[in-house]
Amino acid sequence: MKTCASTPFDHAKADIILRSADGVEFRVFTLFLSLTSPLFETLLCLPRTAGGATGTDQEMKDGLAVIAVSEDGKTLDSFLRFCYPSTLAEDPSLENLTDALPVLAAARKYSLDLIERKVCQTLVNPKVLETEPLRCFAISRNARLKHETIIAARHTLRHPLIPARCAEIDLITAPDLLALLTYHKKCSIAVQFISRDLSWMAHHYRNHNGCKWLFCPENCRCGRGDDRRFFLWGEGTITWWMTYMQEVSELLNDCPSGDTVRGAADRTVEKVRAANCTACSGQVKENMAEFSSLFAQKVEETVKYIYLEMDF
Ligand SMILES: [Zn+2]
Repeated sequence: MKTCASTPFDHAKADIILRSADGVEFRVFTLFLSLTSPLFETLLCLPRTAGGATGTDQEMKDGLAVIAVSEDGKTLDSFLRFCYPSTLAEDPSLENLTDALPVLAAARKYSLDLIERKVCQTLVNPKVLETEPLRCFAISRNARLKHETIIAARHTLRHPLIPARCAEIDLITAPDLLALLTYHKKCSIAVQFISRDLSWMAHHYRNHNGCKWLFCPENCRCGRGDDRRFFLWGEGTITWWMTYMQEVSELLNDCPSGDTVRGAADRTVEKVRAANCTACSGQVKENMAEFSSLFAQKVEETVKYIYLEMDF
């Protein structure tokens, strides 16, 4: 069944019709396509003059040549929006990565570097990166986009070392995946030093007065722990904070990201409030927000110096 594409691909003065694999007809201006890439003209066998037929076999409709392409209507719509000037059609958002792949493939097929880059910029959209970092990594790496690949790799640190399988994993090679796993492992090792050596805390808080909450404030009935790894200035710190640090040290092994630190802090706040210590429950949120943001910053600074060893 043939259907018409939506605005602006239904223009009455368009000079060619592109028909997608699923029968959607796009009325477009050859000028925009030719300006995007001269190669387009050859690949699509566009008629040289508007409305002119290239041969007797040329399918015509309303006086316009009809060119069948192998892309489906959805891909062609996104793709053509990138080709058109932004005053006529805004670039598609491609928030859904499944849509990005075929558009990227079409951009490569027609050698449209600019569109390829535009598609890949959508891969570093924070919303997409937070939920689908491995898919972004695979697509970016496949497209040899250094900046996007590195950003996506950093976002994979929020997830466990061995990633869940996704369709895009086929886009990368085994050495690419090995490089990603090695990067992840190196980040885990580097970050472990932060929870093992608390000198950064001593430096930040200077003395007990800078972090009274860590040493059981007045009327606190939480008590202090005996895990010497988390002593500060040679003194035991409050039990629930030690538990938090023990938990975070474990988690950072698998997910060496600032998010791991912040997420665990939120859970600690809930637990401390539930325990209902008069001295701690009122101020735990504020103290842990401040502390976990400092800790997360340390983690992120450390990870920044670890390189993803990959040639681009
Ligand atoms: Zn307490």
